[in-house]
Amino acid sequence: MSKNHRGKGLKNVPAQGRGTCPICHRTGIKVVYETKVNEETLKTCKECFKTVQNKG
Ligand SMILES: [Zn+2]
Repeated sequence: MSKNHRGKGLKNVPAQGRGTCPICHRTGIKVVYETKVNEETLKTCKECFKTVQNKG
C-alpha cells in the first residue's frame, strides 16, 4: 500500500524526468527543476537548482 506511488508523477515525462543536467552535465540524474538562468528557464538537477536559487 504505502510507497506504491512514489515517483509516479514523473512517469508521464520523457525518461521519467531523468537526463543530463545542462549546468553540471551529469547524466542519468533527475532533471525536473525549472531554474531561471540568465533570463531563460532551464530544467536542471536539484543541486544546480539550489545553487542558482542561493545566488539570488
Ligand atoms: Zn546540475
